[in-house]
Amino acid sequence: MTTVTIWNEFVHEKENDTVADIYPEGIHGAIATALDENGFKTQTATLQEPEHGLTEDVLADTDVLTWWGHAAHNEVKDEVVERVQQHVLEGMGLVVLHSAHASKVFRKLMGTSCNLKWREAAETERLWVTNPTHPIANGIGEFIEVPDAEMYGEHFDIPEPDSLIFTSWFEGGEVFRSGCCYHRGEGRIFYFRPGHETYPVYHQEEIQQVLANACEWVSPNPDAPEIVRGNHEPIEEIDMTDDRSVH
Ligand code: ZN
Repeated sequence: MTTVTIWNEFVHEKENDTVADIYPEGIHGAIATALDENGFKTQTATLQEPEHGLTEDVLADTDVLTWWGHAAHNEVKDEVVERVQQHVLEGMGLVVLHSAHASKVFRKLMGTSCNLKWREAAETERLWVTNPTHPIANGIGEFIEVPDAEMYGEHFDIPEPDSLIFTSWFEGGEVFRSGCCYHRGEGRIFYFRPGHETYPVYHQEEIQQVLANACEWVSPNPDAPEIVRGNHEPIEEIDMTDDRSVH
């Protein structure tokens, strides 16, 4: 069974009644419940725990890490960020959610600012599926409509995605690359835009379906061939008589 660790900075839920009403168990609690129901083994971790709940032991036992942050990106310790990066390079899956576009973890793995345009006006968002044969789009129709969303607009300063699964349209006129796949080392990464804390986005069924599909897609492949690097003996015998460097 795939083990997912759901990380949340867990700040807004404790400071804002609207957010606490929507997510009484925290955003991490809502995501964990949704993934439990989709057959994943889940555990949660938050900023306030020692090492933000992401010790070497926890990450060694994690197939997929999901990341939600907004108000406290700078409070995440660099050594934890480096530990997460290392685990991704070694094959751990990573799902980066909404305002975690600006998290240290995502910016480090992308190598760009990950800045974007934004507006809070409870507007309609329509996420069009732009890659319908990709497994992350399984079970989704032509589009997902989020009735009240925070707008994120282009330009989004990210490297060109390896696959683009969703492109959002917003009521105010902007568009945005909302579902982006990346490979870094042996790890897979999916950035998924929806999830503003004052709207009940993670309670929406299609959004939960995408989260489950994404956790499945980024999870490590246990049947992948062993990776071999470094100086290597030739498989066939090589004629070295024409090699001037050995004479
Ligand atoms: Zn937001």
